[in-house]
Amino acid sequence: MSKLAKKVALVTGGSRGIGAAIAKRLAADGVSVAITYAKDASAASAVVKAIELGGGRAIAIQADAANVEAVKDAVEKAVETFGRLDVLVNNAGTAIPKTFEETTLEEMDRVIDINVRGVFATTQAALKHMKHGGRIIMIGSAVGERAVAPGLVPYAATKGAVKMFTQALSREVGSRGITVNNVQPGPIDTDLNPASGDWAVPQKAATALDRYGRVEEIAAMVAFVAGPESSYITGANLTVDGGMNA
Ligand code: NDP
Repeated sequence: MSKLAKKVALVTGGSRGIGAAIAKRLAADGVSVAITYAKDASAASAVVKAIELGGGRAIAIQADAANVEAVKDAVEKAVETFGRLDVLVNNAGTAIPKTFEETTLEEMDRVIDINVRGVFATTQAALKHMKHGGRIIMIGSAVGERAVAPGLVPYAATKGAVKMFTQALSREVGSRGITVNNVQPGPIDTDLNPASGDWAVPQKAATALDRYGRVEEIAAMVAFVAGPESSYITGANLTVDGGMNA
């Protein structure tokens, strides 16, 4: 039997990109998975179908990470459907690349609401259901530790906040046997950060491996952190960036 059989995970923003890969990987490892999405219901149902075809269990829930009530309802729906919650992956996130001085306050609010406030609210709702062995996993960013290029000021600031949120929260829930970790991807080929085009050139060049990462390479780290072999890792920032921050 798989190490993660009988576990239940909620992956926010699980309909595309890194979140979809995480959902599929956890399901392949035996986890029942609830995913949230904001807009694209058909992409979300395609992930659910792919998991079911592989013999796994999954549901999709529409919940904008900026909408606290929707996020709380999503946590309750996941628990109602699968009976428990063992793993939360705070993956939903966004960036609005432009210079800081061109960025409007509304754009900053949007990035903060999804990347920070949404993470706070989802984690608080999830912790109500988590027992000993629970796993809270953030998808931060390598730019939360080192800003490699201009154009990502509010985004980098939110991911830096996610990093300290992880470290601080690990101190509060450790005594309950719950770990809190932050997986920090470097450039990963998704709709948010395509590996082709002008924007990709400096990012690829900044990596030691001279390539973009694949979504499965982030999902592999998340699966490890979600599993029993990571039991002594908490409050950690686990960078998976092809050596970009080396
Ligand atoms: P994508 O834009 O490719 O996918 C985003 C996913 O999140 C989709 O499933 C989308 O669903 C969902 N989503 C977007 N906004 C919201 C929202 N407000 N509420 C709920 N779900 C939402 O992004 P990536 O896969 O590239 O990024 C995933 C995470 O990884 C983010 O936190 C990002 O910051 C982080 N990251 C990505 C890197 C990269 O290079 N790609 C590098 C470092 C970190 P829908 O289509 O329905 O909106």
